[in-house]
Amino acid sequence: MTTPARAARAACIIGWPVEHSRSPPIHNYWLELYGIAGEYRREAVPPEQFAGFVQKLGERGYVGANVTVPHKEAALALSQGDDRARAVGAANTLWLDDGVLRSTNTDVEGFLDNLDACAPHWDGNVRKALVLGAGGAARAVVHGLVVRGIERIVVVNRTPSRAVALRERFGERVHPARWDERNALFADAALLVNATTLGMERQPGLALEVGLLPSRAIVADLVYAPLLTPLVRAAKSRGLRTADGLGMLLHQAVRGFALWFGKKPEVTAELRALVEADLAASGGGPAGIT
Ligand code: NAP
Repeated sequence: MTTPARAARAACIIGWPVEHSRSPPIHNYWLELYGIAGEYRREAVPPEQFAGFVQKLGERGYVGANVTVPHKEAALALSQGDDRARAVGAANTLWLDDGVLRSTNTDVEGFLDNLDACAPHWDGNVRKALVLGAGGAARAVVHGLVVRGIERIVVVNRTPSRAVALRERFGERVHPARWDERNALFADAALLVNATTLGMERQPGLALEVGLLPSRAIVADLVYAPLLTPLVRAAKSRGLRTADGLGMLLHQAVRGFALWFGKKPEVTAELRALVEADLAASGGGPAGIT
């Protein structure tokens, strides 16, 4: 008996710009690895055309999409967001469910799953976490930390009102602090997360006294271009456990693939090496492009 061939499915990443996105090599690698007839493409869509594009996603031949800068908040507004997307206030993954456009935010699990992989049982030992930044990525990080029950989440941001807004969104466990206080807050921080664009290629550096962190601290950097950021390098040279931005990028891709193509894929060393080579060949991309 022959099995009928499954119709090819397609998904895409929608951004503006989008040419530097690392998502196509990740999803196309999994499609080939699992022998799934499908395709994952880039779609450059300017803000004024985004609503029209996603409202006709199915007609364009897509079962779903990733969404990156600057569309993540509009993606939530135009879809039925799950609890996670609504908590974060942004969606990065869309899928069609019987004609209904649904969304979620997989940056949350990308951050958490990467930490679980790099520092198993980390959440059992972290009472205070220090998060640098209060933008979209920081919202996903803070939500993840709240979900894992971290008691004290100190958010340090250059623009104080944005850190205050995170307390209003996520509650009393979030403690806004001033940007110039950051090094003074290191002494009892068991987890430090950089969710700013600092340290990224073509962006200013991140001046931190990593030596002030406790010796059991874990350092996570969301920046993945360059692969080895100055922060991760300094943490490693102190012997601290680290979780890098590329690991988060790979883990955040898992659920979209499962939703669109019906198979939960694995994040492997081979996939990581492939995306590392892709990053090295192109010399990184602009801030915020996943
Ligand atoms: P965003 O919303 O634009 O937020 C940028 C953050 O960086 C804000 O907190 C901003 O502070 C801060 N910042 C920028 N320039 C600064 C400076 N000169 N001094 C101090 N703070 C500065 O960006 P985002 O979407 O949250 O992304 C943040 C980073 O996370 C990017 O590098 C992005 O690539 C990365 N990311 C990685 C992944 C992954 O999977 N690895 C996923 C999502 C995002 P103000 O509020 O004061 O402007």
